[in-house]
Amino acid sequence: MKKTIIIIFNIIFLFSCSSWNKIIEKDLSKDKKVIYTSFYPIYFVVKSLIWNESEVINIVPNWWEPHEYEPNLRQIWEMKKADLIIMNWLWIESYENKLRNSLTNINFFIIWNNIKNLLKLEKNQEVYWNIDPHIWLSPKMYLDMSNLLIIELEKNWYKNLDKSIITKLENLDKDYSAWLKNCFRKEIITSHKAFWYLARDYWFVQYAIFWISPEEEPSVKSIADTIDLIKKQKLKYIFSENYISPKFANTIKNETQVEVLNLNPVETLSDSEKKSWENYISIMQRNLELLKKWLECK
Ligand SMILES: [Zn+2]
Repeated sequence: MKKTIIIIFNIIFLFSCSSWNKIIEKDLSKDKKVIYTSFYPIYFVVKSLIWNESEVINIVPNWWEPHEYEPNLRQIWEMKKADLIIMNWLWIESYENKLRNSLTNINFFIIWNNIKNLLKLEKNQEVYWNIDPHIWLSPKMYLDMSNLLIIELEKNWYKNLDKSIITKLENLDKDYSAWLKNCFRKEIITSHKAFWYLARDYWFVQYAIFWISPEEEPSVKSIADTIDLIKKQKLKYIFSENYISPKFANTIKNETQVEVLNLNPVETLSDSEKKSWENYISIMQRNLELLKKWLECK
């Protein structure tokens, strides 16, 4: 019985695939190119550069943490219509290999492969598992990343990109540099280890309770160490985020009376952020206000 059901399911699946195929072939005859981006910060800059000249589709749906997301079979099938797929890599898209193996004829642009020489990593970071994947969280690195994407898009058909986004990102970098240059404190405590480039490029240090991915449980030792650090340095705040269970931050809060501030890792855009026209730049400006408060900047 089970076998028959599986066979029937497969026939239905094959049939629906072939009808999808027809739809996809039809789509290809249109002038508009189709670009897939793996998650929000990449989507934001590509969309800003291209506007409506192409269809830009984000692989990770809104309000989904990209560390956790994996596209389903149907989504991968639909991606056959892509002219270009742009991804960050470095474990954020755990499905990278699967996608490349399923979509062998499609042009991929992997940001990590093209930006690693610009990251200026320290010696002990040159091992894969030790590299922070959150390149976009430093406005400086995000600018480099955007310039790389411009080169790639111009190589692929685009001659009339709207580069005004670059000026906006340069201004964001100038704001960060001007404000964070002279601060009383030199370190922050975050829950999610995502701000290494940001800290390095703007003269402070991050201590993280979690490792790279926010779904991981922190160890009892790392919570105890964090509490020690807060008490020793008489810290007033810790950073957490909307996407992380408040359990650990609350444990630390109860032990030390620190205030918990939400630093946004800009990995996704919530529905309410979308409704109020928030974007990468406005969220990063809010992050800067929090950093100024934490680091006691003048
Ligand atoms: Zn992350």
